[in-house]
Amino acid sequence: MVDTVTGRPEAEAEGATPPILSHWIDGRPVEVLPENTGPVWNPATGEVVARVPRGGADEVARAVAAAKAAFPGWRDTPLIARSEIFFAFRELVWQHRNEMAELITRDHGKTFPDALGSVLRGLETIEFACGLPTQLAGLNTPNVATNVDAFTLRVPLGVTAAITPFNFPAMVPMWIYPIALMCGNTFILKPSSHTPGATQLQAELWTKAGGPDGTFNIVYGGREAVAAIVEHPDIAAIQFVGSTAVGRHVFEEGTKRGKRVASFTSAKNAMLVLPDADMELTADAAVASGYGSAGERCMAQTLVIAVGNAAERLRPLILERIARLKVGPGMEPGVDMGPIYSREHRESIIRWIDKGVAEGAELVVDGRPFVHPTNPNGFFLGVTLFDHVTPEMEIYQEEIFGPVLGIVRVATYEEAISLINGHKYANGTAIFTTDGGAARRFKLEVQVPMIGVNVPIPVPAGYLSFGGAKQSASGDLAMRGEDGVRFFSQQKMVTERWPDPSRRETLSLVFPGNR
Ligand code: NAD
Repeated sequence: MVDTVTGRPEAEAEGATPPILSHWIDGRPVEVLPENTGPVWNPATGEVVARVPRGGADEVARAVAAAKAAFPGWRDTPLIARSEIFFAFRELVWQHRNEMAELITRDHGKTFPDALGSVLRGLETIEFACGLPTQLAGLNTPNVATNVDAFTLRVPLGVTAAITPFNFPAMVPMWIYPIALMCGNTFILKPSSHTPGATQLQAELWTKAGGPDGTFNIVYGGREAVAAIVEHPDIAAIQFVGSTAVGRHVFEEGTKRGKRVASFTSAKNAMLVLPDADMELTADAAVASGYGSAGERCMAQTLVIAVGNAAERLRPLILERIARLKVGPGMEPGVDMGPIYSREHRESIIRWIDKGVAEGAELVVDGRPFVHPTNPNGFFLGVTLFDHVTPEMEIYQEEIFGPVLGIVRVATYEEAISLINGHKYANGTAIFTTDGGAARRFKLEVQVPMIGVNVPIPVPAGYLSFGGAKQSASGDLAMRGEDGVRFFSQQKMVTERWPDPSRRETLSLVFPGNR
């Protein structure tokens, strides 16, 4: 049997009676029948560890009704009272950070320290939300005309939503809903059904922190739930994070219906290495970025574009590091890289490696034969290194989203930057050099919004905006930070006059001037 939420074969490795997760609507779990659920797999063991509901239009409608009913009260809740709930929520997430990270490791496979790091990066945006009242202040300009004042104010939009990917079940939602909620909106989260454990915990903690019923809702599901969110007339705004194909669809269908939509999507990030770079640091960066989280990060640098003799010097240093990497279950101490999140995705990565070989790239390290000695049913893969990758190859052009790093050799900086600027994706990039002038030039010339200088995964801090360009994003505003506040609020411009009997003006049909 194929699971309709995840598309995976469901039959094998079903555990005894795995717990059933629930949608979270109006401040409480919604019971579901086992037949309306799909499996959640532990990729390290290949076993089913939980069951996730398959929601659709009915559940979305219930969540919207709850969020709509909660909106007026939440909108009118004083900022400081909203802030207090966020401070309490921040403390609870902090207290439960290890539990959340364990759930991420269980469902996703990434190592526990990596999962914990992602929870803490999510926490940064919750902390930003605690202090958001200052960002919500408007501008006031007295006397824009005689006896007339003007001011701006920011108000919430109403019911808002997010559709999020498997790879960051805590961090990515935490980059979105704290800002939406703190702006005074109510919220519906449609997380990935592959990694639901940590998401469920967030809703429970929100309610425990005093978040009013209906303000934060979760509906699990696949295509049907997403379609219901996109089509629901009472949802004002959606942020999507995931693959470009789905993100573009959500953007087009949502904006067609008058919604505010932003999609943050696929990536193929490249690090440019100049011959003057600190090669030890650069090799660390390439290996950490390319293979961390098994390459399942939208900010992973999966291409190393090496200028001049940089590749000759870098390759042995990368190989030394690869030889020391330990692949295993993410909860095991000392493990550097966990399994791939799903059996199907593992197979897809293997097909990409086959393709790279067929396309003529040099396969320097082959991760395909790796079998974990004590977890043979886990979805493990070793790391793969290709050299002599060229822009004509599909493994250069397309996102693989696995532990596959490719070295591209070019003669000049100009050639390297024109490759990066010519790529259809533009999420993150980095330059490795000890030349400040070259780094400065790169920052100005590269057409990728998130840039690292000797920093391989340049994810901006949680109070700054995050987002890509070209096929890595749809919409004008980035996620989080100032852009997040603008996305989740409507600016109003008020022009105001109070009657003054002593200065009564005569009737005039002339367009009002300000002089
Ligand atoms: P995905 O597009 O498969 O899923 C994302 C969300 O869309 C999930 O909630 C999923 O249930 C839903 N979905 C999937 N298929 C759908 C369909 N056909 N119709 C409607 N909804 C559907 O992405 P994923 O595999 O979960 O995540 C990996 C992708 O996300 C990669 O491409 C990665 O680069 C990208 N990503 C981007 C960012 C960013 O900020 N740019 C961050 C994280 C991940």
